Amino acid sequence: MRFDKLEYDCLRSASSEGFGYYASEEHTKRYLLLMEEGYIKNSPQKEWFRVGVHLNREGEKYWKLFLKKLREKHGHVWKTNKDTQGEKGKWGSRVDVFALSEGNHNGPECKKCGFSFCQHCKSEFEIEECVNK
Ligand SMILES: [Zn+2]
Ligand SMILES: [Zn+2]
Repeated sequence: MRFDKLEYDCLRSASSEGFGYYASEEHTKRYLLLMEEGYIKNSPQKEWFRVGVHLNREGEKYWKLFLKKLREKHGHVWKTNKDTQGEKGKWGSRVDVFALSEGNHNGPECKKCGFSFCQHCKSEFEIEECVNK
C-alpha cells in the first residue's frame, strides 16, 4: 500500500465521503495508476470532469484499509453520528463530520482528547497525533 497524502486525497475524493473529483496533474497521474490497479471504475479520462472518478468494490475495500491504518497511526477516535445525535442519528455508525461546525468549516471530533479539525482546510493525513493515544 502506498501510504502518502496524495493517495489519501485521491481515494477520498473518489469515495462516497469525498468532495468529488479534483484534477491537478499529480492527482490525475495517481488516479490513472489506481485505475490501472483496479481500484477506480474505468472511465475515459476526458469524461472525468463531468462524471468524476469513483472507487469500485475493490477500491472501497482498499480505502477502508487505508483509513484504518491512518486512524491507528494518529490515534484519534472520531465521534460517530450516534455519539452526537443519539440512537436517532442518521447513518449512526458513520463519523460525524459536523461534530465541529463553524460557518463553512466542519469536521470530526475525537472522543478521547476532544481534538477537532476542519476537513476542508486540513487533511486527516497531516493532523497531529492524539494525546490520549
Ligand atoms: Zn484524540
Ligand atoms: Zn475550514
